[in-house]
Amino acid sequence: MLLSRRKFFSESAWLAAATTPFTSIGAAAAPAGKRVPGRPNQIIQLVADGMSMGTLTCADYLSHLTRKRGLTWMSLCQSPGTQIAWMNMRSLNSIVTDSSAASSSWGSGSRIVNGVVNVLPDGRHLRPLYSLFGEAGWKRGLVTTTEITHATPAGFAANVESRGSAEAIAAQYLERRVDVLLGGGRKFFTAKDRKDKRDLLGEFRVHGYETFDNLADLDKAGLVNRWLGTFAESHLPFTIDHENDPKAQEKVPTLAKLTESALRWLGRHGNFILQVEGGRVDHGCHSCDATGAFFDMIAFDEALDVCLDFQRSRPDTLIVITTDHGNGNPGLNGMGDKYGNSAKLLSNLLRMKCSQSELQSKIEKIQNEEDIRLVFGQLTGFEPSAQQAAMLMTFLEKRGQALYESMNSVSVQIGQLLANHIGVGWTGSAHTGDYVPLVAVGPGCDRFRGFIQNTDVFDHYLSLAKIDFKNPEVPLLAESGPDAMSAESVAEAGGPGAAFLV
Ligand SMILES: [Zn+2]
Repeated sequence: MLLSRRKFFSESAWLAAATTPFTSIGAAAAPAGKRVPGRPNQIIQLVADGMSMGTLTCADYLSHLTRKRGLTWMSLCQSPGTQIAWMNMRSLNSIVTDSSAASSSWGSGSRIVNGVVNVLPDGRHLRPLYSLFGEAGWKRGLVTTTEITHATPAGFAANVESRGSAEAIAAQYLERRVDVLLGGGRKFFTAKDRKDKRDLLGEFRVHGYETFDNLADLDKAGLVNRWLGTFAESHLPFTIDHENDPKAQEKVPTLAKLTESALRWLGRHGNFILQVEGGRVDHGCHSCDATGAFFDMIAFDEALDVCLDFQRSRPDTLIVITTDHGNGNPGLNGMGDKYGNSAKLLSNLLRMKCSQSELQSKIEKIQNEEDIRLVFGQLTGFEPSAQQAAMLMTFLEKRGQALYESMNSVSVQIGQLLANHIGVGWTGSAHTGDYVPLVAVGPGCDRFRGFIQNTDVFDHYLSLAKIDFKNPEVPLLAESGPDAMSAESVAEAGGPGAAFLV
Protein backbone atom coordinates (compact mmCIF):
# COMPACT_ATOMS: atom_id res chain seq x y z
CA MET A 1 0.00 0.00 0.00
CA LEU A 2 2.77 2.40 0.95
CA LEU A 3 4.85 1.53 -2.06
CA SER A 4 2.07 2.19 -4.49
CA ARG A 5 1.74 5.65 -2.99
CA ARG A 6 5.46 6.19 -3.08
CA LYS A 7 5.60 5.26 -6.72
CA PHE A 8 3.63 8.39 -7.46
CA PHE A 9 6.45 10.50 -6.13
CA SER A 10 8.68 11.60 -8.97
CA GLU A 11 12.30 12.42 -8.25
CA SER A 12 11.55 16.12 -8.20
CA ALA A 13 8.43 15.68 -6.13
CA TRP A 14 10.17 13.98 -3.29
CA LEU A 15 13.02 16.41 -3.38
CA ALA A 16 10.51 19.22 -3.12
CA ALA A 17 8.72 17.43 -0.34
CA ALA A 18 11.98 17.00 1.49
CA THR A 19 12.61 20.71 1.53
CA THR A 20 9.09 21.60 2.67
CA PRO A 21 9.01 22.36 6.39
CA PHE A 22 7.46 19.27 7.90
CA THR A 23 5.55 21.26 10.48
CA SER A 24 3.65 23.20 7.86
CA ILE A 25 2.09 20.14 6.30
CA GLY A 26 -1.48 19.46 7.40
CA ALA A 27 -2.07 16.98 10.17
CA ALA A 28 -3.79 13.67 9.60
CA ALA A 29 -7.56 13.48 9.58
CA ALA A 30 -8.34 14.71 13.08
CA PRO A 31 -9.23 11.85 15.40
CA ALA A 32 -12.26 12.10 17.66
CA GLY A 33 -11.71 15.06 19.90
CA LYS A 34 -14.27 14.87 22.70
CA ARG A 35 -13.54 13.34 26.06
CA VAL A 36 -15.90 10.46 26.80
CA PRO A 37 -16.69 10.02 30.49
CA GLY A 38 -17.19 6.74 32.30
CA ARG A 39 -15.59 3.35 31.89
CA PRO A 40 -14.64 1.61 28.64
CA ASN A 41 -16.36 -1.54 27.46
CA GLN A 42 -13.49 -2.21 25.11
CA ILE A 43 -9.75 -1.68 25.63
CA ILE A 44 -7.19 -1.65 22.79
CA GLN A 45 -3.49 -1.31 23.58
CA LEU A 46 -1.19 -0.66 20.63
CA VAL A 47 2.52 -1.28 21.15
CA ALA A 48 5.18 -0.12 18.69
CA ASP A 49 7.83 -2.45 20.08
CA GLY A 50 11.26 -0.96 20.69
CA MET A 51 10.34 2.54 19.54
CA SER A 52 12.72 5.29 20.62
CA MET A 53 11.61 8.91 20.36
CA GLY A 54 13.89 9.32 17.34
CA THR A 55 12.06 6.43 15.68
CA LEU A 56 8.73 8.15 16.23
CA THR A 57 10.11 11.45 14.97
CA CYS A 58 11.73 10.02 11.85
CA ALA A 59 8.61 7.96 11.08
CA ASP A 60 6.57 11.16 11.30
CA TYR A 61 8.93 12.83 8.82
CA LEU A 62 8.79 9.78 6.56
CA SER A 63 5.01 9.77 6.76
CA HIS A 64 5.01 13.34 5.42
CA LEU A 65 7.07 12.11 2.47
CA THR A 66 5.06 8.98 1.71
CA ARG A 67 1.55 10.01 2.74
CA LYS A 68 1.73 13.80 2.65
CA ARG A 69 0.63 13.88 6.27
CA GLY A 70 2.23 13.16 9.60
CA LEU A 71 1.56 10.18 11.82
CA THR A 72 -1.89 9.86 13.31
CA TRP A 73 -0.04 9.20 16.58
CA MET A 74 1.27 12.79 16.48
CA SER A 75 -2.00 14.39 15.41
CA LEU A 76 -3.74 12.50 18.21
CA CYS A 77 -1.50 14.37 20.65
CA GLN A 78 -3.20 17.59 19.55
CA SER A 79 -6.70 16.32 20.22
CA PRO A 80 -8.35 17.79 23.34
CA GLY A 81 -9.72 14.36 24.24
CA THR A 82 -6.26 12.82 24.51
CA GLN A 83 -4.08 12.21 27.54
CA ILE A 84 -0.30 12.02 27.24
CA ALA A 85 2.01 10.38 29.75
CA TRP A 86 5.62 9.35 30.18
CA MET A 87 6.20 5.87 31.50
CA ASN A 88 9.05 4.21 33.37
CA MET A 89 9.46 0.75 31.84
CA ARG A 90 12.26 -0.61 34.04
CA SER A 91 12.20 -4.30 34.92
CA LEU A 92 12.87 -6.02 38.24
CA ASN A 93 16.59 -6.49 37.61
CA SER A 94 17.51 -3.68 35.22
CA ILE A 95 16.84 -0.09 34.31
CA VAL A 96 16.77 -1.37 30.73
CA THR A 97 13.89 -3.75 30.16
CA ASP A 98 13.42 -6.47 27.62
CA SER A 99 10.08 -7.05 25.91
CA SER A 100 8.93 -9.90 28.14
CA ALA A 101 9.47 -8.08 31.43
CA ALA A 102 7.93 -4.97 29.86
CA SER A 103 4.78 -6.68 28.64
CA SER A 104 4.52 -8.67 31.86
CA SER A 105 4.58 -5.43 33.87
CA TRP A 106 1.45 -4.34 31.97
CA GLY A 107 0.09 -7.89 32.00
CA SER A 108 0.48 -8.61 35.71
CA GLY A 109 1.16 -5.31 37.47
CA SER A 110 4.40 -6.72 38.83
CA ARG A 111 8.00 -6.15 37.76
CA ILE A 112 9.91 -9.30 36.88
CA VAL A 113 13.39 -10.21 35.65
CA ASN A 114 14.22 -9.68 31.97
CA GLY A 115 13.63 -12.71 29.79
CA VAL A 116 10.78 -14.09 31.94
CA VAL A 117 7.03 -14.00 31.27
CA ASN A 118 4.83 -13.42 34.34
CA VAL A 119 6.89 -15.48 36.81
CA LEU A 120 8.58 -14.06 39.92
CA PRO A 121 12.21 -14.99 40.77
CA ASP A 122 10.94 -17.34 43.51
CA GLY A 123 8.92 -19.27 40.92
CA ARG A 124 5.50 -17.90 41.81
CA HIS A 125 3.29 -17.46 38.76
CA LEU A 126 1.50 -14.14 38.37
CA ARG A 127 -2.07 -14.12 37.12
CA PRO A 128 -1.98 -12.52 33.68
CA LEU A 129 -4.40 -9.89 32.45
CA TYR A 130 -6.11 -12.17 29.94
CA SER A 131 -6.96 -14.86 32.51
CA LEU A 132 -8.57 -12.24 34.76
CA PHE A 133 -10.43 -10.53 31.91
CA GLY A 134 -11.56 -13.91 30.53
CA GLU A 135 -13.09 -14.83 33.90
CA ALA A 136 -14.83 -11.47 33.91
CA GLY A 137 -16.46 -12.32 30.57
CA TRP A 138 -14.30 -10.14 28.31
CA LYS A 139 -13.16 -11.50 24.94
CA ARG A 140 -9.41 -11.26 24.36
CA GLY A 141 -7.30 -10.77 21.26
CA LEU A 142 -3.61 -10.65 20.34
CA VAL A 143 -2.37 -9.26 17.02
CA THR A 144 1.28 -8.91 16.04
CA THR A 145 3.74 -8.82 13.16
CA THR A 146 6.12 -11.10 15.08
CA GLU A 147 5.59 -14.72 16.01
CA ILE A 148 2.34 -14.77 17.99
CA THR A 149 4.23 -16.50 20.81
CA HIS A 150 6.71 -13.61 21.07
CA ALA A 151 7.32 -11.77 24.33
CA THR A 152 4.96 -8.83 23.92
CA PRO A 153 1.77 -10.75 23.14
CA ALA A 154 2.78 -13.46 25.62
CA GLY A 155 3.04 -10.93 28.46
CA PHE A 156 -0.74 -10.47 28.45
CA ALA A 157 -1.63 -14.16 28.51
CA ALA A 158 1.16 -16.58 29.44
CA ASN A 159 3.46 -17.74 32.24
CA VAL A 160 6.89 -19.16 31.36
CA GLU A 161 10.28 -18.92 33.00
CA SER A 162 11.97 -18.20 29.67
CA ARG A 163 10.50 -16.11 26.88
CA GLY A 164 12.08 -18.54 24.44
CA SER A 165 9.60 -21.27 25.47
CA ALA A 166 7.44 -20.49 22.46
CA GLU A 167 5.92 -23.97 22.25
CA ALA A 168 4.72 -23.75 25.86
CA ILE A 169 3.30 -20.28 25.22
CA ALA A 170 1.40 -21.59 22.17
CA ALA A 171 -0.10 -24.37 24.31
CA GLN A 172 -1.07 -21.89 27.04
CA TYR A 173 -2.95 -19.77 24.50
CA LEU A 174 -5.12 -22.83 23.83
CA GLU A 175 -5.55 -23.77 27.51
CA ARG A 176 -6.57 -20.18 28.27
CA ARG A 177 -8.79 -19.88 25.21
CA VAL A 178 -7.48 -16.56 23.94
CA ASP A 179 -10.23 -15.70 21.47
CA VAL A 180 -8.33 -14.12 18.57
CA LEU A 181 -4.67 -14.86 17.76
CA LEU A 182 -3.24 -13.29 14.59
CA GLY A 183 0.45 -13.07 13.71
CA GLY A 184 3.38 -15.26 12.70
CA GLY A 185 5.03 -18.28 14.33
CA ARG A 186 3.21 -21.15 12.67
CA LYS A 187 6.13 -23.49 13.41
CA PHE A 188 5.27 -23.47 17.11
CA PHE A 189 1.88 -25.04 16.41
CA THR A 190 2.71 -27.82 13.93
CA ALA A 191 3.61 -31.41 14.84
CA LYS A 192 6.47 -31.54 12.32
CA ASP A 193 8.21 -28.56 13.88
CA ARG A 194 7.38 -28.86 17.59
CA LYS A 195 9.89 -30.71 19.75
CA ASP A 196 7.08 -32.55 21.52
CA LYS A 197 5.46 -33.41 18.12
CA ARG A 198 2.07 -32.20 19.35
CA ASP A 199 -0.28 -31.22 16.55
CA LEU A 200 -1.33 -28.05 18.28
CA LEU A 201 -3.07 -26.70 15.18
CA GLY A 202 -5.25 -29.81 15.22
CA GLU A 203 -5.88 -29.36 18.94
CA PHE A 204 -6.95 -25.78 18.40
CA ARG A 205 -9.45 -26.99 15.79
CA VAL A 206 -10.75 -29.76 18.08
CA HIS A 207 -11.41 -27.09 20.67
CA GLY A 208 -13.47 -25.02 18.28
CA TYR A 209 -10.91 -22.68 16.74
CA GLU A 210 -10.83 -21.81 13.07
CA THR A 211 -7.20 -21.89 11.89
CA PHE A 212 -5.80 -20.30 8.75
CA ASP A 213 -2.53 -19.13 7.25
CA ASN A 214 -3.30 -16.70 4.45
CA LEU A 215 -5.07 -13.46 3.68
CA ALA A 216 -7.88 -15.00 1.59
CA ASP A 217 -8.85 -17.40 4.38
CA LEU A 218 -8.73 -14.61 6.93
CA ASP A 219 -11.27 -12.71 4.83
CA LYS A 220 -13.48 -15.78 4.58
CA ALA A 221 -13.23 -16.79 8.23
CA GLY A 222 -16.50 -17.12 10.12
CA LEU A 223 -17.24 -15.15 13.24
CA VAL A 224 -18.58 -17.96 15.42
CA ASN A 225 -15.43 -19.89 16.27
CA ARG A 226 -12.30 -18.49 17.88
CA TRP A 227 -9.42 -17.67 15.52
CA LEU A 228 -5.81 -18.74 15.21
CA GLY A 229 -4.17 -17.14 12.16
CA THR A 230 -0.45 -17.72 11.59
CA PHE A 231 0.72 -16.10 8.37
CA ALA A 232 4.41 -17.07 8.44
CA GLU A 233 6.57 -19.78 9.95
CA SER A 234 8.40 -17.11 11.93
CA HIS A 235 7.85 -13.32 11.85
CA LEU A 236 5.86 -11.49 9.20
CA PRO A 237 8.06 -9.60 6.69
CA PHE A 238 9.16 -6.02 7.20
CA THR A 239 6.68 -3.63 5.56
CA ILE A 240 9.23 -2.47 2.97
CA ASP A 241 9.94 -6.07 1.94
CA HIS A 242 6.26 -7.01 2.04
CA GLU A 243 5.48 -4.20 -0.37
CA ASN A 244 8.15 -5.33 -2.79
CA ASP A 245 7.08 -8.96 -2.84
CA PRO A 246 3.83 -9.63 -4.74
CA LYS A 247 3.62 -13.18 -3.36
CA ALA A 248 3.83 -11.94 0.22
CA GLN A 249 1.28 -9.23 -0.56
CA GLU A 250 -1.15 -11.87 -1.72
CA LYS A 251 -0.70 -14.15 1.27
CA VAL A 252 0.32 -12.03 4.25
CA PRO A 253 -1.98 -9.36 5.70
CA THR A 254 -0.70 -5.97 6.83
CA LEU A 255 -0.92 -5.06 10.50
CA ALA A 256 -3.86 -2.78 9.67
CA LYS A 257 -5.66 -5.66 7.99
CA LEU A 258 -4.99 -7.97 10.94
CA THR A 259 -6.28 -5.32 13.32
CA GLU A 260 -9.38 -4.67 11.25
CA SER A 261 -10.09 -8.41 11.13
CA ALA A 262 -9.58 -8.83 14.89
CA LEU A 263 -11.99 -5.96 15.52
CA ARG A 264 -14.50 -7.55 13.16
CA TRP A 265 -14.47 -10.64 15.38
CA LEU A 266 -14.18 -8.95 18.75
CA GLY A 267 -16.51 -6.06 17.90
CA ARG A 268 -19.55 -8.32 18.00
CA HIS A 269 -19.07 -8.65 21.75
CA GLY A 270 -19.93 -6.21 24.50
CA ASN A 271 -16.57 -6.34 26.23
CA PHE A 272 -13.14 -7.10 24.81
CA ILE A 273 -9.48 -6.31 25.26
CA LEU A 274 -7.03 -6.36 22.34
CA GLN A 275 -3.28 -5.92 22.11
CA VAL A 276 -1.90 -4.85 18.72
CA GLU A 277 1.88 -5.02 18.35
CA GLY A 278 4.05 -3.50 15.64
CA GLY A 279 6.70 -5.96 16.71
CA ARG A 280 9.25 -5.59 13.97
CA VAL A 281 10.02 -1.95 14.68
CA ASP A 282 12.13 -3.46 17.44
CA HIS A 283 13.80 -5.92 15.08
CA GLY A 284 14.68 -3.12 12.68
CA CYS A 285 16.29 -1.12 15.47
CA HIS A 286 18.28 -4.13 16.72
CA SER A 287 19.86 -4.14 13.26
CA CYS A 288 20.25 -0.34 12.99
CA ASP A 289 17.83 -0.72 10.09
CA ALA A 290 16.07 2.61 9.60
CA THR A 291 14.22 1.39 6.52
CA GLY A 292 12.84 -1.68 8.24
CA ALA A 293 11.86 0.17 11.41
CA PHE A 294 10.45 3.42 10.00
CA PHE A 295 8.24 1.89 7.31
CA ASP A 296 6.93 -0.54 9.93
CA MET A 297 6.09 2.48 12.09
CA ILE A 298 3.89 3.80 9.30
CA ALA A 299 2.21 0.39 9.00
CA PHE A 300 1.67 0.57 12.77
CA ASP A 301 0.10 4.00 12.37
CA GLU A 302 -2.30 2.58 9.78
CA ALA A 303 -3.36 0.00 12.38
CA LEU A 304 -3.94 2.90 14.79
CA ASP A 305 -6.20 4.52 12.16
CA VAL A 306 -8.25 1.31 12.07
CA CYS A 307 -8.64 1.41 15.85
CA LEU A 308 -9.69 5.07 15.81
CA ASP A 309 -12.27 4.30 13.11
CA PHE A 310 -13.62 1.57 15.36
CA GLN A 311 -13.73 4.01 18.27
CA ARG A 312 -15.79 6.45 16.22
CA SER A 313 -18.51 3.81 15.93
CA ARG A 314 -17.99 2.60 19.50
CA PRO A 315 -17.04 5.63 21.63
CA ASP A 316 -16.95 3.45 24.77
CA THR A 317 -13.52 2.18 23.61
CA LEU A 318 -10.30 3.10 25.40
CA ILE A 319 -7.25 3.18 23.12
CA VAL A 320 -3.75 3.24 24.63
CA ILE A 321 -0.77 3.75 22.31
CA THR A 322 2.77 3.25 23.56
CA THR A 323 6.05 1.36 23.26
CA ASP A 324 7.79 -0.97 25.67
CA HIS A 325 11.31 0.53 25.47
CA GLY A 326 13.65 2.41 23.20
CA ASN A 327 16.05 0.53 20.95
CA GLY A 328 19.21 1.78 19.28
CA ASN A 329 17.93 5.35 19.70
CA PRO A 330 18.15 6.42 16.07
CA GLY A 331 18.09 10.12 15.38
CA LEU A 332 18.14 12.36 12.35
CA ASN A 333 21.42 14.23 12.68
CA GLY A 334 22.24 17.73 11.59
CA MET A 335 23.83 17.11 8.19
CA GLY A 336 25.65 19.49 5.89
CA ASP A 337 26.15 23.24 6.00
CA LYS A 338 23.85 24.79 8.60
CA TYR A 339 22.27 21.31 8.82
CA GLY A 340 20.58 22.09 5.54
CA ASN A 341 20.91 18.57 4.16
CA SER A 342 19.11 16.60 6.88
CA ALA A 343 15.63 16.51 5.33
CA LYS A 344 17.00 15.80 1.86
CA LEU A 345 19.10 12.95 3.17
CA LEU A 346 16.20 11.47 5.12
CA SER A 347 14.17 11.43 1.93
CA ASN A 348 16.74 8.98 0.56
CA LEU A 349 14.74 6.41 2.51
CA LEU A 350 12.43 6.51 -0.50
CA ARG A 351 15.26 5.13 -2.65
CA MET A 352 15.68 2.04 -0.47
CA LYS A 353 14.48 -1.06 -2.30
CA CYS A 354 14.52 -3.41 0.70
CA SER A 355 15.08 -3.54 4.44
CA GLN A 356 18.66 -3.28 5.60
CA SER A 357 18.32 -6.83 6.87
CA GLU A 358 17.68 -8.00 3.30
CA LEU A 359 20.61 -5.90 2.07
CA GLN A 360 22.85 -7.46 4.71
CA SER A 361 21.90 -11.00 3.74
CA LYS A 362 22.87 -10.18 0.14
CA ILE A 363 26.21 -8.55 0.87
CA GLU A 364 27.18 -11.28 3.32
CA LYS A 365 27.34 -13.58 0.31
CA ILE A 366 29.71 -11.23 -1.53
CA GLN A 367 33.43 -11.65 -1.20
CA ASN A 368 34.80 -8.53 -2.86
CA GLU A 369 34.61 -4.78 -2.36
CA GLU A 370 33.62 -3.90 -5.92
CA ASP A 371 30.51 -6.07 -5.81
CA ILE A 372 29.59 -4.73 -2.37
CA ARG A 373 29.65 -1.21 -3.79
CA LEU A 374 27.54 -2.31 -6.72
CA VAL A 375 24.86 -4.09 -4.68
CA PHE A 376 24.74 -1.22 -2.21
CA GLY A 377 24.18 1.19 -5.05
CA GLN A 378 21.46 -0.92 -6.62
CA LEU A 379 19.48 -1.47 -3.42
CA THR A 380 19.96 1.85 -1.65
CA GLY A 381 20.89 4.48 -4.25
CA PHE A 382 24.15 5.01 -2.36
CA GLU A 383 27.46 3.65 -3.56
CA PRO A 384 30.06 3.52 -0.78
CA SER A 385 33.61 4.64 -1.54
CA ALA A 386 36.28 2.01 -2.11
CA GLN A 387 37.66 2.79 1.34
CA GLN A 388 34.27 2.42 3.01
CA ALA A 389 33.66 -0.90 1.24
CA ALA A 390 37.10 -2.10 2.36
CA MET A 391 36.33 -1.19 5.98
CA LEU A 392 33.00 -2.98 5.81
CA MET A 393 34.78 -6.04 4.43
CA THR A 394 36.86 -6.22 7.61
CA PHE A 395 33.65 -6.68 9.63
CA LEU A 396 32.29 -9.21 7.16
CA GLU A 397 35.54 -11.13 7.61
CA LYS A 398 35.34 -10.73 11.40
CA ARG A 399 38.58 -8.72 11.48
CA GLY A 400 37.00 -5.32 12.07
CA GLN A 401 37.03 -3.63 15.44
CA ALA A 402 34.74 -0.77 16.47
CA LEU A 403 35.86 1.48 19.34
CA TYR A 404 32.47 1.10 21.02
CA GLU A 405 32.24 -2.66 21.40
CA SER A 406 28.45 -2.73 21.09
CA MET A 407 28.95 -1.59 17.51
CA ASN A 408 31.09 -4.56 16.68
CA SER A 409 28.72 -6.19 14.24
CA VAL A 410 28.04 -6.17 10.52
CA SER A 411 24.52 -4.79 10.95
CA VAL A 412 25.62 -1.82 13.06
CA GLN A 413 28.41 -1.06 10.61
CA ILE A 414 26.00 -1.12 7.67
CA GLY A 415 23.73 1.19 9.68
CA GLN A 416 26.67 3.55 10.24
CA LEU A 417 27.58 3.46 6.57
CA LEU A 418 23.99 4.19 5.51
CA ALA A 419 23.89 7.10 7.99
CA ASN A 420 25.94 9.00 5.40
CA HIS A 421 23.09 8.47 2.97
CA ILE A 422 19.97 8.99 5.13
CA GLY A 423 21.33 11.09 7.99
CA VAL A 424 20.13 8.71 10.70
CA GLY A 425 22.71 7.74 13.34
CA TRP A 426 22.42 5.13 16.09
CA THR A 427 23.70 4.73 19.67
CA GLY A 428 24.04 0.97 19.24
CA SER A 429 21.83 -2.01 18.62
CA ALA A 430 20.39 -2.76 22.06
CA HIS A 431 17.36 -1.69 24.07
CA THR A 432 17.68 1.60 25.90
CA GLY A 433 16.45 2.74 29.29
CA ASP A 434 14.47 5.73 28.06
CA TYR A 435 11.18 6.69 29.58
CA VAL A 436 8.56 6.05 26.91
CA PRO A 437 5.61 8.07 25.61
CA LEU A 438 2.04 6.88 26.12
CA VAL A 439 -1.05 8.37 24.53
CA ALA A 440 -4.56 7.43 25.66
CA VAL A 441 -7.93 8.36 24.23
CA GLY A 442 -11.43 7.26 25.19
CA PRO A 443 -13.20 6.61 28.48
CA GLY A 444 -10.70 6.03 31.29
CA CYS A 445 -7.89 7.90 29.53
CA ASP A 446 -7.67 10.38 32.41
CA ARG A 447 -5.79 7.77 34.41
CA PHE A 448 -2.89 7.91 31.95
CA ARG A 449 -1.17 11.23 32.45
CA GLY A 450 1.96 12.71 33.91
CA PHE A 451 4.74 10.31 34.83
CA ILE A 452 3.51 6.78 35.41
CA GLN A 453 4.97 3.36 36.12
CA ASN A 454 4.59 0.43 33.72
CA THR A 455 2.86 -1.54 36.48
CA ASP A 456 0.15 1.14 36.80
CA VAL A 457 -1.30 0.08 33.43
CA PHE A 458 -2.46 -3.28 34.82
CA ASP A 459 -4.10 -1.64 37.84
CA HIS A 460 -5.92 0.87 35.63
CA TYR A 461 -7.21 -1.79 33.24
CA LEU A 462 -8.50 -3.94 36.11
CA SER A 463 -10.08 -1.01 37.87
CA LEU A 464 -11.76 0.18 34.67
CA ALA A 465 -13.15 -3.34 34.14
CA LYS A 466 -14.21 -3.51 37.83
CA ILE A 467 -11.96 -6.48 38.48
CA ASP A 468 -10.60 -6.54 42.02
CA PHE A 469 -7.25 -8.32 42.03
CA LYS A 470 -3.60 -7.68 42.90
CA ASN A 471 -0.59 -9.83 42.02
CA PRO A 472 2.32 -10.13 44.49
CA GLU A 473 5.29 -7.79 43.97
CA VAL A 474 8.89 -8.22 45.14
CA PRO A 475 11.60 -5.57 45.80
CA LEU A 476 13.77 -4.48 42.91
CA LEU A 477 16.93 -6.50 42.42
CA ALA A 478 20.32 -4.81 42.21
CA GLU A 479 21.87 -5.00 38.78
CA SER A 480 24.76 -7.42 38.51
CA GLY A 481 28.35 -6.51 37.69
CA PRO A 482 30.93 -4.22 39.34
CA ASP A 483 29.61 -0.96 37.90
CA ALA A 484 25.94 -1.67 38.38
CA MET A 485 23.72 0.75 40.23
CA SER A 486 21.87 -0.98 43.04
CA ALA A 487 18.26 0.05 43.56
CA GLU A 488 19.21 1.41 46.98
CA SER A 489 22.18 3.44 45.78
CA VAL A 490 20.09 5.01 43.05
CA ALA A 491 17.50 6.03 45.63
CA GLU A 492 20.13 7.35 48.06
CA ALA A 493 21.73 9.42 45.35
CA GLY A 494 18.38 11.17 44.99
CA GLY A 495 18.45 10.59 41.28
CA PRO A 496 15.65 9.09 39.35
CA GLY A 497 15.48 6.45 42.12
CA ALA A 498 12.21 7.78 43.44
CA ALA A 499 10.68 6.91 40.12
CA PHE A 500 12.24 3.45 40.13
CA LEU A 501 11.13 2.57 43.62
CA VAL A 502 7.41 3.14 43.69
ZN1 LIG B 1 10.19 -4.90 23.10
